Amino acid sequence: MRNSIFAAIKFCSVLAVSSVGATSVLPVQEANAACSGVHRTVTLNTAGGKRYGKSHGGAQDFLKHKEVVLTFDDGPVPNITPKVLHELDKHCAKATFFMVATMAKNNPSLARKVANKGHTVGIHSYSHKNLGQVSGAKAISDVNRSITAIEKAVGRDVAPFFRFPYLSENRSVNQHLKGLGYGVFAIDVDSLDYKFSNPTSMVNRVMSELNRKGKGIILMHDIQKVTANGLGQLLTRLNKEGYKIVHIRGRGGKDPSAPVLVSSASETKKTPKPIVVASLETKQKPETTWTLRKSVDVPAKKTKKTKKRSVKKALTNRKSPIRAKVKKRIIVASAKPAKRVKKQKVAKLTAQDVFKRNKAKALKQFAKNKQAFRAAIKKRIIN
Ligand SMILES: [Zn+2]
Repeated sequence: MRNSIFAAIKFCSVLAVSSVGATSVLPVQEANAACSGVHRTVTLNTAGGKRYGKSHGGAQDFLKHKEVVLTFDDGPVPNITPKVLHELDKHCAKATFFMVATMAKNNPSLARKVANKGHTVGIHSYSHKNLGQVSGAKAISDVNRSITAIEKAVGRDVAPFFRFPYLSENRSVNQHLKGLGYGVFAIDVDSLDYKFSNPTSMVNRVMSELNRKGKGIILMHDIQKVTANGLGQLLTRLNKEGYKIVHIRGRGGKDPSAPVLVSSASETKKTPKPIVVASLETKQKPETTWTLRKSVDVPAKKTKKTKKRSVKKALTNRKSPIRAKVKKRIIVASAKPAKRVKKQKVAKLTAQDVFKRNKAKALKQFAKNKQAFRAAIKKRIIN
């Protein structure tokens, strides 16, 4: 028995395409051309906060007619992911696994196995929280933790691909991911596998959606038994009906230690113009995480003396949120004390630049310690 049902596309190998729209597509060598369930491999340049999948307005359409990308969310889990891997192997297919960090942490050898088999690993949050329903700061912290945990479990850098749980987006996270060079993935075809108990029904659903749309990123879950049981059938149908599997890889700047400026507009709609939200962290052990949460108006009648005193008090009390009153605005920042590390990579903004809203310049002038950041705020307040 042939090891692949994809005989028809056995020798398609990898197509080199220079570019499709704004997305860079680079050729990647397939390790085993004889086992070619994968029609072509596309390396996506995710830099600049690109979005994929039509369901949420993704414009990066790198797929041609009858091309599909297989994606599996929420795993890995011991009783199902191995079966999914087995079916993919059997059909020489490659997929993308958007892992949940807690799952990867609990099953590190399985997470590693997924990556070692040549599948792509992306990020699907730390614990599958609805990030659209938490604050920007919390959501960003969740994303950072999930990247660190999943990379640790997998034992290597993951692809700069992120998919929000429930596809529920958070604007601050989108900005943050953009800074990290991550692409945001939605979907084109929802298998709704969690609704089915019969594998054939699930496969029928996927195929009818695909026939309607002609191509797309397919969402499945490697925590659903029905998915593992129906995957072989699905891969056979895809081949029979002329669909071709595209394997996606990631490329794009990723520097989690880089400070990121995020607009606070999403946090406080009443604020006329964003001041700054700075998520200043190092990848390893941040000395301190600063997050400026929001800006709000304060009564203009408050005296300069009052402002100065309260700011000084707030700045010296690390346990409470720091409130720096500047002219008519307050910046609320929270300082999260963390273990001290020798090498500090804490960014600093000069207040002048912050308040001129010259983000580019502010980024450029990040200095070496938090004192500078404090002093800058303080200075501006006194002025
Ligand atoms: Zn999910």
